[in-house]
Amino acid sequence: MKIFLIKPDDNFDVFFRLALCRTRKEMLSAINRDDEKLHNTEKTTSDVMGLFRTFPGIIDMPGIGYSNIYGIMYLNLADINDNVIIHECGHATFFWVFNIRHYTGKFDNEDNFKEQEEFCYFLGKAVDKVKRTIKKYKEGLK
Ligand SMILES: [Zn+2]
Repeated sequence: MKIFLIKPDDNFDVFFRLALCRTRKEMLSAINRDDEKLHNTEKTTSDVMGLFRTFPGIIDMPGIGYSNIYGIMYLNLADINDNVIIHECGHATFFWVFNIRHYTGKFDNEDNFKEQEEFCYFLGKAVDKVKRTIKKYKEGLK
């Protein structure tokens, strides 16, 4: 496993960690190890292909959990695809926006992220379908 720092926007010193794992086993043990340190009680299932975990407190305690490194994305390179990358980037984006609102003082307590799982699911699916269609179209042109 190797960890990188991703800065989504150059205008803000706000980062997430990217943990690139070579196998599912390696990814799961990294997630479980981190969860123990973070006292996270949320269970991660063994069929997970990727995961974005925001650091604790960010959602439950607005303002208190603020950090310039706001979460970690785990990806298993053994069965990665665009759907998974885009799905996890969707989560990273939701939490990034949340952090930026803190950063700029524009946080609104009405903001909620309950819909993000559905949003990220369809985002990944849509990109996957569009990419497959582009591929098919290109093959037809040959
Ligand atoms: Zn998700």
